[in-house]
Amino acid sequence: MIKDKVIIITGASSGIGEATAKLLANKGAKVVLGARREDKLQRIADEITTDGGQAVYRELDVTRQSDNDGIVKLAREAFGGIDVIFLNAGLMPNSPLSALKTDDWHQMVDVNIKGVLNGVAAVLPTFIAQKSGHVIATSSVAGLKAYPNGAVYGGTKWFVRDFMEVLRMESAMEGTNIRTATIYPAAINTELLTTISDQGTARSVQNTYDKYGISPDRIARVVAFAIDQPEDTTINEFTVGPVNQP
Ligand code: NDP
Repeated sequence: MIKDKVIIITGASSGIGEATAKLLANKGAKVVLGARREDKLQRIADEITTDGGQAVYRELDVTRQSDNDGIVKLAREAFGGIDVIFLNAGLMPNSPLSALKTDDWHQMVDVNIKGVLNGVAAVLPTFIAQKSGHVIATSSVAGLKAYPNGAVYGGTKWFVRDFMEVLRMESAMEGTNIRTATIYPAAINTELLTTISDQGTARSVQNTYDKYGISPDRIARVVAFAIDQPEDTTINEFTVGPVNQP
């Protein structure tokens, strides 16, 4: 059941996070929005409340543990607990390795990997204590298959896959009943491409998205589906993309 669940969403200021926040709030969830751009979060929270939903937000940089702890605290204070965290914040400044865009490499590791670790560290004690909880993460089809120009991005998304599977196994072994779901989107029309600074890569990725890209609402529906399953059931993995994308 989605109704009345308290759901933290990272990367909620645009794209997949925004679409998911709106869909879940529309289904009766109490959503807690985090990202760096507070003005965007405020607009989205206002839209949700105007539509009769419940939303709060907080500035969140997932690379900072204190920010992740802060959003969990906000969920508790605003709504009395936490049921689900959707670890969705990410960026994709792809480029050929030979371009040596090492700042971009480190930023992807910090946000796409350490951001996930920080988010899990912030909620895990609560989920273990209450013997329930749901961790959902956005990986990518690049976490399943190698793509040229995507060595580091793909690596971060492979990490998410492995990490989430071990979280699932250990939760089962320890009897904490934490559900997990990892989502592997293909081309989804969002602001993600604006993070690519390498011009050649940006052009070729843009061509792919112009040809195939679909709405982030498609991923929101999958997140809602995962949450809506009975509490004794975990659906671990979803690969979701445009029907015409090879
Ligand atoms: P967007 O660029 O629209 O959204 C990315 C979100 O991440 C934004 O809300 C951004 O907010 C947030 N973010 C970035 N850095 C940080 C940070 N340091 N701390 C907190 N939040 C941060 O793209 P998408 O919606 O597409 O991306 C969402 C996820 O989906 C990402 O993990 C991405 O890798 C994944 N994905 C997307 C695909 C696609 O085709 N679009 C395909 C496969 C996976 P802000 O800038 O305000 O902090």
